[in-house]
Order: sequence, then C-alpha cells, then structure tokens
Amino acid sequence: MTPLRGLTVTAGLLAASAVLAACQDTTSDSDCYEPGGVAYPVHLVGDTTITFRWPASYFPVRYWADPAGPTVQNVDASLNLWLGGLHCGELSLQRVTDSLTADVVVLNPPFMPPVPPAGAAVFADSINACQARTDIVLDANDVLERPIHVYVVPFSVDSAEVNSCYRFVTAHEIGHTLGLLHHSSNAQDLMYHRPFRRELTTGDKYTVQLLYRVVNPTIPPEVR
Ligand SMILES: [Zn+2]
Repeated sequence: MTPLRGLTVTAGLLAASAVLAACQDTTSDSDCYEPGGVAYPVHLVGDTTITFRWPASYFPVRYWADPAGPTVQNVDASLNLWLGGLHCGELSLQRVTDSLTADVVVLNPPFMPPVPPAGAAVFADSINACQARTDIVLDANDVLERPIHVYVVPFSVDSAEVNSCYRFVTAHEIGHTLGLLHHSSNAQDLMYHRPFRRELTTGDKYTVQLLYRVVNPTIPPEVR
C-alpha cells in the first residue's frame, strides 16, 4: 500500500480539534457534540494515515440489505441508530432495493465467504452466536472500492440467540462502513471489538460526530 500523507488521528488530537472548531465557529455548534464524550481513534487499524468518511456528494449513502431473513430490519434499525447519533444533519443514509447502485451491501450467507485479496482490511467480529465481517478494500491508488461488503453469518443453531446477535453486530458493522475504522477500547461502546448491546454510548456518538465534522478523510470512495 502506498504510504499516504494525512492526519494522524488519535483520540487526543480529535479532542483538541473539536475544541478548536468550536471556538472558531461564530454560530455555536456545541449542540452538535455529545457533552462529556471521549473519542476513540478512527484511523485504519495498522495505518494511522488512513481515515475515511463518506463525502457529502455521496449523500444519501446507499445501503442494500439481503432481502432474506432479518437483515433488512436490522439494517434499517442500524442506519437510524447512527443517524440518531448525529444532531446537526452531518450525514444522510438510505436503504435501496437495487444492489447494483449500492455503496454498501449487507449479506447474510450461511457461511463466511473467503477473505478478499491481500491488502484489504478485514474487520472480523464474532460475538457468541454469530459473526460478522466488513471488508475495506483499497485499490492501487488508495481509493476505497465500492460497494463495501458486510457479511453477517450464524454461529449458533439457537435462532433466538442468533437473531439477538444479528441486531447488535449489524449495528457495529454499519459503524465500520461509516468510516469508524478502529475499535474502541471501552467495552461499553458499540464499536468495542465484542459489542454486547446495540445502543450508542456517549463515546460512540462523540466519535462519529468528530468523524463527520472535524476529521479530514485521506482516502476517497470509488466513483459511482
Ligand atoms: Zn469491528
């Protein structure tokens, strides 16, 4: 992967940037930030120069969900969950019914498919009854290939456990697709590597607010 110049985003830098932005803004935007939030890093694991968020020109970002099973319902709930964490219209998301137009596809196969080519960043999250994977694939020019693929697959034969697991693991993977390319170290956060509930914490909200208000992305998505 070609080294990129860009922001090295750490939790400390994010907090400092947010204060700076708030002071420079003549119309107070403090209502856009979660009070008391502590941010976690958003750069790609293993490469602190890579940050991503969807540019406004892609709004609404298009999600397609596997029509079989509970995926549509879980994706809708997850999109609303993350939109609810942003208070100032920073992001627009939409579920579409044509997978060919999608920026993100969420699939629910019976088994996890093979990992993508070398060089891809793979978020593999397994939580008791199910597992999920989000594949972040950069091309030779460090452009994020679309659509981003998310897979949610069963681990257990207990359908109640599996369905419960699907609910919060889908919300977690949608966080990765928004550009949260790092896990939180706080076990309470949805973006902890083993989430156990679907709600956004103050930390999740503050981090996605910073991502869509302050962070300068260093990689673009593939053109539509
Ligand atoms: Zn994850």
